[in-house]
Amino acid sequence: MSADEKKGRVYLVGAGPGALGLVTLRARQLIEQADVLVYDYLCNPEMLRWARSDVEKIYAGKSGASHTLTQDEINQLLVKYANAGKQVVRLKGGDPYVFGRGGEEAQVLVRAGVAFETVPGVTSAIAAPSYAGIPVTHRDYASTVTFVTGHEDPLKPGSAIDWQHLARLRGTKIFLMGVERLREIAQRLMAEGAASETPVALVRWGTTTRQESLEGTLATIADLVEKRGFAAPAITVVGDVVKLRSELNWYEALPLFGQRVVVTRTRRQASALTEKLRLLGADVLEISTIRIVPLPLEDAQRDKLENFSQHFDWVVLTSPNAVELFFSEFFKVRSDVRDLGAVKFAAVGPATVQKLRALHLRADLQPEIYTTEKLAELFSETMVKGMRFCLPHGQLADPQLANHLRELGGVVEEWVLYDTQPEEEDAGGARARYLREGAHWITFTSSSTAENWHALHLKPEDGAPLPKVVSMGPVTSVTLRKLGYEIAAEASSSTLDSLVETIIKLV
Ligand code: SAH
Repeated sequence: MSADEKKGRVYLVGAGPGALGLVTLRARQLIEQADVLVYDYLCNPEMLRWARSDVEKIYAGKSGASHTLTQDEINQLLVKYANAGKQVVRLKGGDPYVFGRGGEEAQVLVRAGVAFETVPGVTSAIAAPSYAGIPVTHRDYASTVTFVTGHEDPLKPGSAIDWQHLARLRGTKIFLMGVERLREIAQRLMAEGAASETPVALVRWGTTTRQESLEGTLATIADLVEKRGFAAPAITVVGDVVKLRSELNWYEALPLFGQRVVVTRTRRQASALTEKLRLLGADVLEISTIRIVPLPLEDAQRDKLENFSQHFDWVVLTSPNAVELFFSEFFKVRSDVRDLGAVKFAAVGPATVQKLRALHLRADLQPEIYTTEKLAELFSETMVKGMRFCLPHGQLADPQLANHLRELGGVVEEWVLYDTQPEEEDAGGARARYLREGAHWITFTSSSTAENWHALHLKPEDGAPLPKVVSMGPVTSVTLRKLGYEIAAEASSSTLDSLVETIIKLV
């Protein structure tokens, strides 16, 4: 490594408008390599997960008036870390040079002799309108675009903005930071000669699953904003291009757009359901209800993993967690999957089968309806008699399957591999949002998530919508009813896709 490379460097990186997919490849690469990440409130916090686990994360504010760090403090911080030899990524919402004070930060760096690089980003000024069905230019409607700060009071004398000129410019005008002063902005534009019926649209949290938009005219928009309680951060688009919205509004037309869905999950489970719902436009609040706490195997059980097939003919897996933890125990003892010997696998449902498949293992038995009861029915007496079964599961497993196998003459050993405990943390802030804003739907994929959700006693503030309950299968539904929940719908087959379909049909 040359002396130069050891020197610190600051990257002014555009974090894009909010949707994770709208970040540049260069941005992602730099986040992955960074020693220090300085970010603000418009950056999607999920991209922080790309960083190394030992990265230093610094929140630089600013949400409205509650600045956490002053601009001076941020500048000094960047210089300090760079001088200490760190690779510093300064993440800024949208593009760093569009009303983000990125230019000022770069000047400070140059003057302090710190090497820097810029990574342009997808600016919210273009992306938010785009996701609301508004192209900022169009041959029939606008041949110029002007980006304007809405920060200044347009009714005060000595404004840095030439309002007279702006009002007469016929193209698209895009205001950032303009919600608070919208009434004055509209008034001033009309006073300088803009037509009162000029179309206006506001797009709040554009490109994210929380996107909201509002349409009016220069004459009506301020009242509409007040009535709806529409708040920052929002882009305001003024001009005829807004008319294209009725034709081009693809994002807000997604089947689950505007639907807030609570996904109850355990922290270890992959968020496949969340992913599916988000692609359909849903605003997903992923709330962890339980934590899977692995439990140690008994010594006698661990010994059997040494030569597993001498002790068992079947492994019956009733959850993805069981697959994961069974194999994690197995690979502590043996290093080659063939050491498991010629055992057969039974799996209760597709998620469990999927976990097996990821290990390049096939399930020998799987019921068409995904319940342990149906799985039990598949085992005939001739299959079971004298056979030895290993049932790895959680502490609260339904004893029915083991009993059934025993009744048919099977030799059954149950291995308790994990316990489930209530989750107390709110890492992504979804719980806080649920309490504040409520939700339209809540999904339950298992009895234990239902029970654990119930135990959390989360209740949204008065006036916030209470979610309707969607259950993934009959067993989960029974549990939910016992707990006193009214079920709006049950998925027709116990799969995530069917659960998603069920919600779409209800919307
Ligand atoms: N550099 C940023 C803009 C920073 S100024 C960019 O290029 O996007 C902050 C303003 O950006 C906010 O007041 C709001 O007007 C706008 N903004 C940022 N992200 C937004 C989003 N996702 N939706 C709507 N407006 C957004």
